[in-house]
Amino acid sequence: MRKPLVAANWKMNGSREFAERFFTDLNLEGVTSGVVVCPPFPYLSLVAQEAEEKGGFAVGGQDLSQEPSGAFTGEISASMLLDSGARYVIVGHSERRSFYSETSELVAKKFFAAQAAGLIPILCIGETLEEREQGRTLEVVATQMQAVSEVIDTDAWKRAVVAYEPVWAIGTGKTATPEEAQSVHEFIRAQLGQVGDEVQILYGGSVKSANASALFAQADIDGALVGGASLDAKEFAAICRAAV
Ligand code: PEP
Repeated sequence: MRKPLVAANWKMNGSREFAERFFTDLNLEGVTSGVVVCPPFPYLSLVAQEAEEKGGFAVGGQDLSQEPSGAFTGEISASMLLDSGARYVIVGHSERRSFYSETSELVAKKFFAAQAAGLIPILCIGETLEEREQGRTLEVVATQMQAVSEVIDTDAWKRAVVAYEPVWAIGTGKTATPEEAQSVHEFIRAQLGQVGDEVQILYGGSVKSANASALFAQADIDGALVGGASLDAKEFAAICRAAV
């Protein structure tokens, strides 16, 4: 049985004050899924401290360097994330792929670096609207996964999370229908072959409490990666509660 997982991606939002208030407001009573909060880097230690005191959730980074250390100004390594209390790290978010030109090959290196240090990568994959309209959704996600498969052993997928995030649904208020999402999740699981049943596959793209239950009812949707709605503690907790 795969345990459901809900991850919050705060992106470049918040402040110290916001984070402190968020955890005062966050009530995870009745939540049985795993929960991960991915704040901006400067707040990782604060969130890790909250996680230690409050319990019920883990901490994640939003990105990492593919390099272990050295002259890479502005970059943050996997071991630094671990040092700051992170257990997870998002890799290949579509905003990194599009605004910072991250290729699938670079994302694969980051995935490898994360696992090598003992972090659990949350690999984001998904098609643009244009690619969907061209009927290329499955080809795009398969290619994005293949880049990672080329640098890891099959078993390493068991220590990772995949997040299917159609780019056209991120931050737009447009969600894939549960059936649309399910058919891609089923395909992703099949791509994972013999380890597919053991890998958590999350859906991301305008998830909120109003649509979470219908998405989570699908056989291959194991939870969500949540952007905008994760900035509201009550709304985020309601999404977590829906993941059973
Ligand atoms: C995301 O950033 O991963 C995301 C899914 O954002 P949103 O929930 O705002 O669409």
